[in-house]
Formats: sequence, C-alpha cells, structure tokens
Amino acid sequence: ALRPGARTEPAVNIGTIGHVDHGKTTLTAAVTQVLAARGGGAFVPFDRLDRTPEERIRGITVHPGLVEYATDTRRYTHVDLPGHADHTRTTAAGLCGLDGAILVVSAADGVMPQTAEHVLLARQAGVAHVVVALNKAETCEDDDAVRVEQSVRRLLTAQGYEGGSAPVVQVSAVGALAGRPRWTAAVDALLDAVETYVPPPARAVAAPLLLPVVRVLTVTGRGTVVTGAVERGTVRVGDPVHLVGADGGPRACTVTGLQSFGRPLERAAAGDRVALLLRGVPREAVRRGHVVAAPGTLTPGRDFAARVRLLSGREGGRTAPVRTGFRPQFHLRTADLTGGVDLGAPALARPGTTVAMTVRLGRPAPLEAGLGFAVREGGRTIGAGTVTEVL
Ligand code: GDP
Ligand code: MG
Repeated sequence: ALRPGARTEPAVNIGTIGHVDHGKTTLTAAVTQVLAARGGGAFVPFDRLDRTPEERIRGITVHPGLVEYATDTRRYTHVDLPGHADHTRTTAAGLCGLDGAILVVSAADGVMPQTAEHVLLARQAGVAHVVVALNKAETCEDDDAVRVEQSVRRLLTAQGYEGGSAPVVQVSAVGALAGRPRWTAAVDALLDAVETYVPPPARAVAAPLLLPVVRVLTVTGRGTVVTGAVERGTVRVGDPVHLVGADGGPRACTVTGLQSFGRPLERAAAGDRVALLLRGVPREAVRRGHVVAAPGTLTPGRDFAARVRLLSGREGGRTAPVRTGFRPQFHLRTADLTGGVDLGAPALARPGTTVAMTVRLGRPAPLEAGLGFAVREGGRTIGAGTVTEVL
C-alpha cells in the first residue's frame, strides 16, 4: 500500500537507464528502501528486481523490473531497464511511455557505449526529461566526478536535451542500501530533482485509446494478457478494442480484465501502466509492438517520409555510407520492424549527416507525423529519425 496522501491522478512514469553494471538495479532498490522507511511503498530488494532465472545466472537485467512508490506529493511507477547491449531492444520498448528517465552513470567509469545509446533511444521515444544519477560516488574523488558530469552534460546536449541545466546528483546506491546517512540523503536529493525537473505530464485522456504493447503473456485458463502504458484515451472492462499491427489487419477483441500492479481496475487512462486481459485473440497472434486501440481509430501504414540523422562512426554509427535498398530495423514506439530505405537522389548518404528518406516497413504499424524512431543495424543504433509524413 502506498502512502495515503499520495495523489489519485495517474502516476508519473519514470525509469532507470544507462550502461550495464553502472548500478541501475541497485539504485532502484535503494530508492524503494529510502521511501519504504517513510511509508512511501514497499522495499523491493535487488534480487526481486533482477528476477528471471536467466538474469540470476547472468547477473543482468533482462525483464524490465517494475516497481511503484510514492513521495509526499506524487505517485511513481519506475521501470528498471536493462543496460546490456544484448537487450537494447527491450530497453527501447520499455522507454515508450516514460515521462522522465534517471540516467545512471558510474562516476568511476564515466560515459560508456550504452550510456550514449540509451540517451538517444530515450530522446527518440519522446522521453521529455532526463535526470542524471552519478553513481558509485563513494569510490571516487570529486574531480573525477566533475569530469564525468561534464561529459554527461555534453552527451545530453548533443542528443537534444538541456544538458546545461539537467540535474546531476552524486549518489551511492550501495551506500544508501547500507543506510549511510550521507547516501540516503543523496537518494532524497535525487528524488527531489525528479520531482522538480519532471513536470506532471498532460494526459490525453479524451483521445481514442492507444496502448503500445510491451509484453504478452498467457494466464492459464483466462487468456491472453498484454502489458504497457496507456498512451492516449481510456479503457474499461468490457470495452471492444482492436489489436493493430498484425499481418491480417486489425483484430477485434474484448477487454475482459484490467489490472495495475496486481490490483484489479474498472478503468484505466492515459499514463496508467496496465495489464489487459483480452478475449478473442490467441497468444500467438500478439507481439510486442502491436497496439491496442479504440476500434476504427487507427489505420496502420507501411510507408512514410522521414528525416534521419545518421550517427558517425565516432558516435557508434556506421563507417560505410547508407544506400537506397538498405534494410535496417526501425524502432517505433514498442515495435521493432525491418524497413527498406529509399534516399531518392543522391542514393547514398554518409554517416554523420542528416538526410531525408522514404521508408517501406515490412509490416504495418500505426504511424503519425512527428513520431520519433531509432534506426538499428546488427545490434547497434545507427540513426535517429522523425516521421515527417505518412504516405
Ligand atoms: P546495472 O547493470 O546498472 O543494473 O547494475 P547493478 O545494480 O546490477 O550493479 C552492478 C554492480 O555495481 C554490482 O556489483 C553492484 O553491487 C555495484 N554497485 C551498484 N551501485 C554501487 C555503488 O553505489 N557503489 C559501488 N561501489 N558499487 C555499486
Ligand atoms: Mg540491472
């Protein structure tokens, strides 16, 4: 149970991102411990966040661990996203619907490849605000932390965030978990920074329902369950909905159950993280990247025009030029789709430049002008784009 004073409007949705081993999961556990001491939710220990058998074996976060907590003024949902490069697709999908992100950077190690990649993915996913936690601060000198802070600020600015004014807080997740006052105070300072820097977002509750699917599971004897954050609109138990994005066109189904963090709900609205039980659709027909929508409100498309910034080799992008006919992966909302690129003339573009292109996706997806996406190839992010026109 959360603190009684917690508000009843939708929670602010945040998440931890950053390079593997920089301390995202430990910091998430520390945040829940500091707030639990004040009655702001339950302490979730590290092992419960890093929870699937594969994760326990490899010691890395594969399944986004989801927790909720409350401060004096707000409710939060917090998703602890994986940092390892092998799981970047999961991270990209998990960023969809976040109002803000806590970028965890080890002050001992500095900016690493997935630090930069996650900032780019957050930007393309529309995450409006990034707060920086310089973790493992108990292990290094102030000068080193300041140097890392400067490089993180440059990185944020390069990706279109306000790197100069973003809050940067030195923390020690391990120190806070051990109850050391200096470091529990640092976690408080981090939460204060989130509170002041990430404004409560406007929620499009009156729009038709749109929920990008993050996970699909089967509940034995009950049916197919999809999870994700409601992007727009509202949904109630009993509502007819369409599942959009599969090959054969939209599929009609009915919402027969609705829950959030294990609590049954009658209704959920934009900003809420939910699990929907769907009748009328088999598990195999649903995938991450599909969307649940109000019937008849979305026409999925395959063709769009876009502007894409091709990362330079130094930024982790390609070294060879991109040509018409190139078929990378496009990460749009929670979807990960192959698409063919047409550059027009000249039919070649160099890394480090921004180009106009048209794209034909391998499968239909809900498209709209202004939608951001990331372009990936062979497990690396090589470009950042925006849909300029649906064709
Ligand atoms: P993640 O991959 O970013 O989720 O990182 P983890 O939370 O799994 O932490 C990776 C390693 O860093 C673990 O061995 C942690 O105990 C250690 N670690 C996390 N936070 C701190 C910290 O504040 N100080 C120190 N010294 N080690 C930390
Ligand atoms: Mg982790």
